[in-house]
Amino acid sequence: MYELSLNENHSALLPGVARAVRDSGERVNLTLDALATGLTEELARRLGLPPTRVVAGPGSGALLQQFLNAHAGPGTEVLHAWPSFEMYPLLIRNARAEPVAVPLTGQEHDLTAMAAAVTDRTRMVLLCNPNNPTGEVLGHDRLRDFVAALPPGVLVLVDEAYREFAPPGELADAMALAKEDERVAVVRTFSKSHGLLGLRVGHLAGAEAVVGPLRRMTPFFRVSTVAQAAAMAALEAEDVMRERCAEVARERDRVRAGLLDLGLRVPPSGANFLWLPLGERNKAFVDHLAAHGVVVREIAGAGVRVSTGTPEANDAVLALAKDFVAKEPTAQESPAPECAG
Ligand code: PMP
Repeated sequence: MYELSLNENHSALLPGVARAVRDSGERVNLTLDALATGLTEELARRLGLPPTRVVAGPGSGALLQQFLNAHAGPGTEVLHAWPSFEMYPLLIRNARAEPVAVPLTGQEHDLTAMAAAVTDRTRMVLLCNPNNPTGEVLGHDRLRDFVAALPPGVLVLVDEAYREFAPPGELADAMALAKEDERVAVVRTFSKSHGLLGLRVGHLAGAEAVVGPLRRMTPFFRVSTVAQAAAMAALEAEDVMRERCAEVARERDRVRAGLLDLGLRVPPSGANFLWLPLGERNKAFVDHLAAHGVVVREIAGAGVRVSTGTPEANDAVLALAKDFVAKEPTAQESPAPECAG
């Protein structure tokens, strides 16, 4: 069976990670660096920011929740594209704010519609780049112009969970925008590119006034000592990490080329997954793969997301897609359905 529904990184662990986990595992009876000060300083140094502008957390999902809890709340609205990360509306509601979903046009962010959807209750915009589940990569000019079009009080949190899989130079430099504009913050994770999903480590960078309130929640959103040690080791292996992510991207593009050859529509992706907007055939495709031991996800009724796995798993996807196309008439793209909220 191949699990390709969770966007996991199937590469080997980065060098030094297993050892860091073993070594730190022998000291889990101790508090050590409770607030992850060492990891935060190292991240800040690499980003060229003061440590006061960076906060580490147990995964980027937790940091998204902290950010929403700190900066949104009852009576406020939070904008996001749709389809985008399925957890956004849930996390927004957890913070007792109102999610406002702006549909993609085709497979792309409609940034004009997103800017137009801002009201005097809008507190922030969540932007996923590359977008989960479509893989769309927003370039720098589009992001910069979008931020410039927003009123002064609206924050923008750019979620870069998949940034290392994007083609070099194509992804907007949200960190550069965050350095010059207090409204922009960036959240990143060690879960995908660094392969530390099970350990839960992420970080968020932004203006001190935006990051400070998250730090006050740290005692309950703490990064374990084992996860800190693994993250430090993974940072040391940056070159290997980049090469492994490039290898995943090559596999992703190989699968895309094979699916395109079969006549399927698959937009280019800058993440570790592909998006197949198969319309009415979404479920049939998911079921066909599942019947042969390959698990992929239908998302928001709009399409199927297929994570990039090992070459063997990817070959299985291609072979099963070939059977599927032989049995079914050519799959047509359908528009994204309205988000129920
Ligand atoms: N953002 C996006 C876009 C994601 O897809 C995910 C995980 N699926 C997360 C954030 C959360 O990841 P983690 O909490 O493991 O850092």
